[in-house]
Amino acid sequence: SCANDDLKALIRTIPDFPKPGIQFRDVTTLLLDATGFAAAIDRLAESLPVKPDLVAGIEARGFVVGAALAQRLGTGLLLVRKHGKLPGETIAEEYALEYGTDRLAIHVDACAPGADILIADDLIATGGTALATVRLLRRTGARVTGAAFLVDLPDLGGADRLRAEELRVHSLMA
Ligand code: IMP
Repeated sequence: SCANDDLKALIRTIPDFPKPGIQFRDVTTLLLDATGFAAAIDRLAESLPVKPDLVAGIEARGFVVGAALAQRLGTGLLLVRKHGKLPGETIAEEYALEYGTDRLAIHVDACAPGADILIADDLIATGGTALATVRLLRRTGARVTGAAFLVDLPDLGGADRLRAEELRVHSLMA
């Protein structure tokens, strides 16, 4: 993590967002920094043991990380969207929020069976969002073998939950 202290300095913590008691890690300041943004994507790409067939970016900040990674790796990008946004035939997966549930969706024909997929998002906390994405992609017959994040909050256990699902987890900082 010391090697990424330069990137960590570009992320700020906003207290009490979106509600009291939450320390929100704000990556928008990293994205604003040309050198930092490029270095973050380079380092994530270089940490991967193999090039995936596709990168799946989770709405919305996962689109930013995922698109940049896909371009860097030379893969396509699969958009994992909030339910109700995609125009074609979709499948959806529900996941728990603190209050209630939400749903993520993909186009049914977005990936070939057996495709090796890397998930991308800005941050993993409890892993609820990423795990719903894994379930969704695996329903198509895809192999989801890895996940890449700018930030991992390891105390919340999400990365461990992904490892229990046989994913390699790549992150730049805690
Ligand atoms: P999880 O589902 O609990 O792992 O939460 C991760 C999801 O919520 C990701 O899509 C993140 O973008 C978002 N998220 C949760 N906490 C933060 C934060 O502190 N900063 C930025 N995004 C967050």
